[in-house]
Amino acid sequence: MYRAPSANAGPEVLIVGAGFGGIGAAIELRRHGIEQVTILEKAPDLGGTWFYNSYPGAACDVPSHLYSYSYAQRRNWSRLCSPQAEIHAYLHEVARTHDVERLVHTGVEVGACTWDEERCRWSVHSTDGTTYEADALIIATGQLDQPAVPSIAGAESFAGHSFHSAAWDHSYPLAGKRVGVIGTGASAVQFVPEIAPSVAQLTVFQRTGNWFLPRHNRRYNPLLKRAFERVPGLQALRRRFVFEYAESLTLAIRHPETIGRVGAARSERFMRSQLKDPHTRARAWPDYTFGCKRILFSSHYLPALERANVELVTDAIERFTPAGIHTAASSAPGDGREHELDCVIWATGFKTTDFMFPMRVGGREGVDLHEHWSGGAHAHLGMCVPGFPNMFLMYGPNTNTSGGSIIVYLEAQASYIRQALQQLRSRGAAAIEVRAEVEAASDRELQARFAGTAWTRCDSWYRDEHGRIVTNWPGYMREYLQRTAQLDADDFRFSALEKPATVLSA
Ligand code: NAP
Repeated sequence: MYRAPSANAGPEVLIVGAGFGGIGAAIELRRHGIEQVTILEKAPDLGGTWFYNSYPGAACDVPSHLYSYSYAQRRNWSRLCSPQAEIHAYLHEVARTHDVERLVHTGVEVGACTWDEERCRWSVHSTDGTTYEADALIIATGQLDQPAVPSIAGAESFAGHSFHSAAWDHSYPLAGKRVGVIGTGASAVQFVPEIAPSVAQLTVFQRTGNWFLPRHNRRYNPLLKRAFERVPGLQALRRRFVFEYAESLTLAIRHPETIGRVGAARSERFMRSQLKDPHTRARAWPDYTFGCKRILFSSHYLPALERANVELVTDAIERFTPAGIHTAASSAPGDGREHELDCVIWATGFKTTDFMFPMRVGGREGVDLHEHWSGGAHAHLGMCVPGFPNMFLMYGPNTNTSGGSIIVYLEAQASYIRQALQQLRSRGAAAIEVRAEVEAASDRELQARFAGTAWTRCDSWYRDEHGRIVTNWPGYMREYLQRTAQLDADDFRFSALEKPATVLSA
């Protein structure tokens, strides 16, 4: 059995996941004297999303001045939205600078986490049979960790090559091949224009059109870069501007009948200017309220659809054949079509509502988190679940953002979790657990805030199988920052280390 290194500066903390969430939590805890931190990461390197998603054109679509830790601002980003390699290098650099890189144990896949009520400790079991132990557990695996590949009839019969956008096969040469892309979300929109010029034929299978806004993402011109480096306050001003711009997107999503219409009109103008061919335009056009699904930022995707070697197919995929994909007949007469392909790229997103599952998480009295969430995932501020003492989630239920930067949310979560652990330590308690009534009330209030917003007006990856929106925060970044800034100890129960656990505060 492996034990986290012991010292005086407890509690001992295990973090699962070394992406922006896990790394940020480790930095926050250690800065505040909680030093016994171990990070378990299943990949061979830290980075999370930014390790796995290396497809051509992968980049953030929130400008880097905001898509970065507030305490580790860089003045020399190469572009408005940095490419994957630059973001990954940034995360490494921050982890190294804050001395948490060495805390990451790579190649450790966690299969189960169990709360030991008698000892008030978490046992974390990796799939290779090692058990780790700590006082507190932070699950920072997020929402976009597990690629989703829909089940389509005949997929196993396809004789060509295939891979998911989040596991790009860089060893497979796409040049000169007939390539099919299934899905037209944020990932496809980034790589389609990158691969279109080199493939022989690109067939893009779209189920739903999207709303677009411009993003050229050119390299910063050297003068502007120098200004960021040298003019005091300019970097901070830029970050503030991006923050407010992002909040304006949320404003549009929250008010679909007013500000949302302005956003839709802007998007419509942009899309019309990009799509000259009326047939492609009609096919690509979205049929749902602006902002219900993620608004996509690209000035290159729609023009790529009009290339001679690219076809946008909106007929439903019926089945795979050994030679390619067969689509159903469209509304126009016909018997459907077979699209012959050498390679299929799944750009079909992630199992967003599964969160950390299939990992098993067993809390107090043996309660299984999967069962606890059978009616839909929910957690106080996306972090704390009643019945699961000393456990915290990062990028958990209802903390995704459609307009803002997830790094802002992750930093707020790291600070809130640190405050919880400081409470644990200062009270000499062994366990901290959110009160069930507090969590239930905050969930009710949060769900009510979706009423009337664009998010409720279509189906999307934000909803679980019951239709409940379980991934998104219903408001603004600033609201989440306010709600999490100061942990209210009255929202929690604290227990001492005895059996049965003594309640220190009821
Ligand atoms: P996604 O947005 O979930 O898109 C998946 C696509 O696959 C959608 O077009 C979906 O169509 C389609 N699809 C799913 N199942 C299908 C099926 N059975 N048949 C046909 N089409 C199917 O996934 P993603 O593009 O990987 O992006 C996921 C999230 O990751 C984004 O929303 C964003 O939050 C994040 N992301 C961010 C960036 C960035 O910051 N730069 C880049 C990439 C991703 P429907 O719309 O009809 O469901």
